Amino acid sequence: MKKHNFSAGPSILPDSTIKNSAEAVLNFAGTGLSLLEVSHRGKEFVAVMDEAQALFKELLDIPAGYEVLFLGGGASTQFCMVPYNLLAKKAAYLNTGTWANKALKEAKGFGEVVEVASSKDTLYNYVPKNYEIPSDADYFHITTNNTIYGTEIKKDLDVNVPLVADMSSDIFSRPVDISKYTLIYGGAQKNLAPAGVTFVIVKKDALGKMDRHIPTMLDYRTHVDGGSMFNTPPVFPIFSALQTLKWLKEMGGVSAMEKINIDKADLLYNEIDRNKMFKATVADQEDRSLMNICFVMNDEYKELEKDFFDLATSKGMSGIKGHRSVGGFRASTYNAMPKESIQAMVDCMKEFSAKY
Ligand SMILES: *Cc1c(COP(=O)(O)O)cnc(C)c1O
Repeated sequence: MKKHNFSAGPSILPDSTIKNSAEAVLNFAGTGLSLLEVSHRGKEFVAVMDEAQALFKELLDIPAGYEVLFLGGGASTQFCMVPYNLLAKKAAYLNTGTWANKALKEAKGFGEVVEVASSKDTLYNYVPKNYEIPSDADYFHITTNNTIYGTEIKKDLDVNVPLVADMSSDIFSRPVDISKYTLIYGGAQKNLAPAGVTFVIVKKDALGKMDRHIPTMLDYRTHVDGGSMFNTPPVFPIFSALQTLKWLKEMGGVSAMEKINIDKADLLYNEIDRNKMFKATVADQEDRSLMNICFVMNDEYKELEKDFFDLATSKGMSGIKGHRSVGGFRASTYNAMPKESIQAMVDCMKEFSAKY
């Protein structure tokens, strides 16, 4: 039976990414050796790194003056690396979810942290809009897509201080005006590659302004200067990321992807709104994520939650349980998710409600 992979992360990847990665594990670039056992400084892997960085820049239309880095440590390491490198006195954070909150907490070890707004008391079911960012903040940190709660900041914000964004779960889902950001980071395992590599897009002239000592591996300049090869980079997920980037380009790039993502998300949100048994956890259309669609059973049908889960599972749906802090269901609809899988979910919801 065909599986429909709605997992929130690690998550669905294009077939070509999986297939080409598997082939490279057996025989990498015609070397007769596995990708897993060759030097990262050999010409075959250097070519992979160069092409991945170049395609990253091309697909996101990254202007001159920015560098793309591929690092280890996950997005979670960026929660401390960002303030280490950019927080001199004060930073502002928007608290839109568990990840945003973790980033904010980590920054507190480096200086004054101002939480400009939070949606915590309503279980993060909206994105706060009217807040003031202190004009003397070194940067303002946002999480553009809140993977757990299904909210998303889909427009690039205009702010009065340098903007830093965690884009772990919506990178490459839409065009981004990179020039509005000083730094963007994310774990690759949501929309790009298997776990193990973290991407960073950093404006180079923002670096080198701190008085503090920064440990070598946590200093962005180390990796800018070393071309992400200061130490051994995570070669396998970087290779896979390149395959996804090639696929993205074939699909028409991020503008084409955005249209497809809107179309896919509409299909599912429309059914959730239409179907009397279900309710979206995020009410405001503007805040609804195109990548993680969270919904619960309406109050009068709460006791049927397990029945729906069982029906969906029997039809090949995988990874649809909501995060334990939210409950209900979460359908993650990343770039690689085909519309037919979302249609299968919608059909399943229709079949379920027809029974009652
Ligand atoms: C998954 C996720 C993280 C954590 O990423 P790791 O690579 O596991 O550290 C951080 N932020 C967001 C928005 C995420 O979705």
